[in-house]
Amino acid sequence: MNQDPRLGLPSASSFGLDALCSGRQDLLQSLPDVPEPKDEDAERGTKLHACWEKEDPTGLDSEDTEIYERGLKLVKTVLDDWLNPFPRGGQIQVKEGEREQRFYLRDESGSIVASGQADRHWYSNTVHEKREGLLLDFKSLWCKSLTPAELNWQLLLLAVQLYQEYELTHVRCALAKPMFNKLDIVDYNADDLKQAEYAVNQVLWSIKHTPQRRPGAHCRHCKGATACPEAKAWTLLPSVQSGALGRVTPAMAVDFVETMHLKDCVKIWESATSRHNIEDAIQDRLKRLSLGELAELGLTFGEPKVNTPITDVEGCCNFLTRSGIHPHELYAALKLTKGDLTHVIQCKFGLTKKAAEQWIKDKLTPFMTDKPCERPLVKI
Ligand code: SF4
Repeated sequence: MNQDPRLGLPSASSFGLDALCSGRQDLLQSLPDVPEPKDEDAERGTKLHACWEKEDPTGLDSEDTEIYERGLKLVKTVLDDWLNPFPRGGQIQVKEGEREQRFYLRDESGSIVASGQADRHWYSNTVHEKREGLLLDFKSLWCKSLTPAELNWQLLLLAVQLYQEYELTHVRCALAKPMFNKLDIVDYNADDLKQAEYAVNQVLWSIKHTPQRRPGAHCRHCKGATACPEAKAWTLLPSVQSGALGRVTPAMAVDFVETMHLKDCVKIWESATSRHNIEDAIQDRLKRLSLGELAELGLTFGEPKVNTPITDVEGCCNFLTRSGIHPHELYAALKLTKGDLTHVIQCKFGLTKKAAEQWIKDKLTPFMTDKPCERPLVKI
């Protein structure tokens, strides 16, 4: 029997992630059983939610008791404000629904396609042309990256579920943030609710028909992130790691590499040659484009650098000695490269390249100095 009340389907609390990444549900379903990430804050939040549900702060420490009380005051504020316009003693009655109730959304064939749990909800329960609902979701701790109520997919899905459940014409949703002693409220009228229903169906359609994983900063909230290749590749991008918007400077690269997993370092090191080959081929291809094609890509050719090597070495040396520089002093600025020398020896003695290299090794060793390089990395 499936113990998951979400039935392995999209649920309101992570619906924002599904809206950003339609391939997420596919990935989660392919994994054995992905528990929600647990940390100290998550456990504190769960405890606070249980206390709010029962309205009993037993077991909370003094700090959390304060948060608990602030939460209840926010409930009273939002409820009083919502009840205020209702006529007193008339036809309209307001009921509180079951706390922590999970609502199930069904498609046209009646199959459950998503669910959402409302911490608290109320609704006007008589048949009347204006049927209203109020929903409140506690955000127990800091929730600094919480999406505002007006843009919040969790509230949007819950509003649609409440609207369908009670056939409402207006739904107010509130995020209660006792840590900040603040409420964040959004109202949906009848037209908004129709549009919200359409938006929810669009997300569900994308999950079913175009399940494409789209990584981004949101992945840190996704419980499939550790198994998601796209999230890993995205996290490995140097610009992502360093938070850089532009170039990664050498200093930024050092910091970034320090935080990488060593196995990832090996993989990237192993593919360095392929990467450089690809980069060179990319540069060559781009350079073969016309100015017009380059402009379409936001590129153009810059001014070429002009190098000015000394090509008349003999003439230059003669001039320098005539200018009073002794040949001994000149040697410090002269270099014999083995490549060029090999060519000279080949021509002079009619040798093959290999024989000329050997000649240099045999005859010129007394003039060479060993300069050890750093040890290269090699595969075992
Ligand atoms: S980790 Fe990111 S890309 Fe991967 S499934 Fe989750 S939200 Fe999508």
